[in-house]
Amino acid sequence: MSLIITEECINCGACEGECPNEAISAAEDIYIIEAAKCTECLGFYDTQQCVDVCPVDCIPLDPDHPETREQLMAKYEQLHPGRPPEKLDSWQAPEK
Ligand code: SF4
Ligand code: SF4
Repeated sequence: MSLIITEECINCGACEGECPNEAISAAEDIYIIEAAKCTECLGFYDTQQCVDVCPVDCIPLDPDHPETREQLMAKYEQLHPGRPPEKLDSWQAPEK
């Protein structure tokens, strides 16, 4: 499942550079996550890097983009063809 940035975002920009998939960018009012690029950090990190750095805790799961771990892995492979995952077994799904 992709994550989503809510209106609580204070536009600090901390999350943008942390995303291994370059899924985060500044939009008109708040930062946004491109759902097609968010793997919940699967393949790179154990936890969701944007969530870990966000000072206002405004990045929950997006219920409009439900995905299984297998689907997230397929997305990773599509985004990074031929690149072996740096982390995989210790990955933790987001809590909310
Ligand atoms: S969870 Fe990971 S892949 Fe998804 S937007 Fe956040 S940093 Fe990027
Ligand atoms: S870290 Fe949080 S508050 Fe800062 S830009 Fe990203 S979503 Fe917005």
